[in-house]
Amino acid sequence: MQTIAERLKIAQSQLEAFSYQANRAPTDVQLLAVSKTKPVSDIVQAYESGQRRFGENYVQEGVEKIIALQQLEHIEWHFIGPLQSNKTRLVAEHFDWMQSLDRVKIASRLNEQRSPHAHPLQVCIQVNIDNEEQKSGVTPTAVMELADAVSQCKRLNLRGLMCIPKATGEQLRNSFCAMQTLYVRLKQVYPQVDTLSMGMSADLQQAIAAGSTMVRLGTAIFGPREKK
Ligand SMILES: *Cc1c(COP(=O)(O)O)cnc(C)c1O
Repeated sequence: MQTIAERLKIAQSQLEAFSYQANRAPTDVQLLAVSKTKPVSDIVQAYESGQRRFGENYVQEGVEKIIALQQLEHIEWHFIGPLQSNKTRLVAEHFDWMQSLDRVKIASRLNEQRSPHAHPLQVCIQVNIDNEEQKSGVTPTAVMELADAVSQCKRLNLRGLMCIPKATGEQLRNSFCAMQTLYVRLKQVYPQVDTLSMGMSADLQQAIAAGSTMVRLGTAIFGPREKK
């Protein structure tokens, strides 16, 4: 059995190798450790190996961990799951990033609920890149409209785009390329945009080749999850 520290090291070196193959600097691509369903003790292990960025999918569970670990310096919490509008306050009050924004109503609520004393909430718009019926995220054609709404929210800072593609093989490559195009377009309008969050364990290499700046790894770092 590998330890979390060992798995992190392997993930980091894969990330660097894939960046190198894509003619990109290893520092271009950040690792988000997805700790959903995993205990606080696992997060502490990752933190002690130098990991600072963690992703959570479930609001209540995430907030409990954030509170339990609030003494850890420079730890950064990303919300990456679907968010109901009655739970926005918890995200606004506790998280650093919201990566799964997909509607104006959620943006307005987060903006109202974010404390003026905290850093602005860093936001990525989730794109439903394969137009799946069940999946959250805006359609590619609706990205600019939501970006415009976010840019008018003083307590939110638009940082980029996030996706969870469904496709595999050649079609996956097309989905990643479509994301890259949207990302480049967004950056032209909003110069502070610097984050393209895409790529998970199975598709790291392709995501990095297509310009991902943040890959999200859960199982590869913390091991398999029990079904909820
Ligand atoms: C769970 C999850 C991940 C990580 O998935 P793994 O397969 O465990 O690497 C990444 N992104 C999102 C949005 C997730 O919900």
